[in-house]
Amino acid sequence: MKTYLISPDKKQYKANLHCHSVLSDGRKTPEELKELYKSHGYDILAITDHERPHDHQAMSDKDFLMLTGYECYIRPNARYDKYDREVHLNLFARDPHNVKMINFDERYVHYLKRDNAIGELVRVGDERPREFSAAYINEYIKTAKEHGYIVTYNHPYWSMEDEADILAYEGLFSLEICNYGSYLINNLDYCGALYDKMLCKGKRMFCHGADDNHNAHPVDGPYCDSFGAFTMIMPDAFTYDSVFSAMETGEMYASMGPLFKEVSVENGSIHIECSDAKSIFLYMGSKTPACRIAEEGKSVNCADFKIDENARYVRVSVRDEKGRWADTRGFFPDEFGF
Ligand SMILES: [Zn+2]
Ligand SMILES: [Zn+2]
Repeated sequence: MKTYLISPDKKQYKANLHCHSVLSDGRKTPEELKELYKSHGYDILAITDHERPHDHQAMSDKDFLMLTGYECYIRPNARYDKYDREVHLNLFARDPHNVKMINFDERYVHYLKRDNAIGELVRVGDERPREFSAAYINEYIKTAKEHGYIVTYNHPYWSMEDEADILAYEGLFSLEICNYGSYLINNLDYCGALYDKMLCKGKRMFCHGADDNHNAHPVDGPYCDSFGAFTMIMPDAFTYDSVFSAMETGEMYASMGPLFKEVSVENGSIHIECSDAKSIFLYMGSKTPACRIAEEGKSVNCADFKIDENARYVRVSVRDEKGRWADTRGFFPDEFGF
């Protein structure tokens, strides 16, 4: 029996799941961001301003969906210190009109001085000063989930966190495997190797790519932080509910350019079809991923690999001629039929 990890029959929708507007420290208005992304071929945008959720549903239309969410952060001291660790999480709301603020701490909401509507928001959770500990971060994630959010872990290298730090966090649904803002400006945060280390340890977490754009520079210049990393989502229908469910169940993959057409498993082998690439890798949690590499001047767009009997998981990564990656999530043996 063939098991589809990415089905050729499911429509894929292009999403930017991490984005800042003038409502926090971005330079473009929510309306400008919607038009910009829509005109660049995107179908879905989550404007995830710092520390304050906004309901942008009035901007959704039949061809374009706004997701409700926000980005929170937790630091050893509330102040920014570029030499210290900090954790950033994106929260996405199951209910598009849910704008509950989790664990409000006034030391973290300096961005909101431009916006005087905090008083109208529902605040939930523990409002003691935020603590930088795994126990506190886990409590934060748990509270967010109890109040209808799913939670991603953002830009691990920019955050100066390593594998052991992230392994201690529970209840995250996805790792931001590419944060284009810090990839472009800081040469950080393409996190394929880190993601594999987490999967090797049995951490069940999906992966996604996002811009984390602030648009401080012109969109047609070399410092443009938009349109660099994205997530392809494969919902059953193009509705908020369906898109959210697809994210929640891992019907998505991360990309900086290449696209997957099919990934399927049958009789112990994996079949991969993708857009033109220079190399296709299959990771299984071992020292030796399988690979197919194109000859000089040529490209590859399919590969078949035998899956090791004792593979810890399977995950496909492809790289195109511009060095841009696309990455599936990790699929564990109980998901691919071993
Ligand atoms: Zn961040
Ligand atoms: Zn951000």
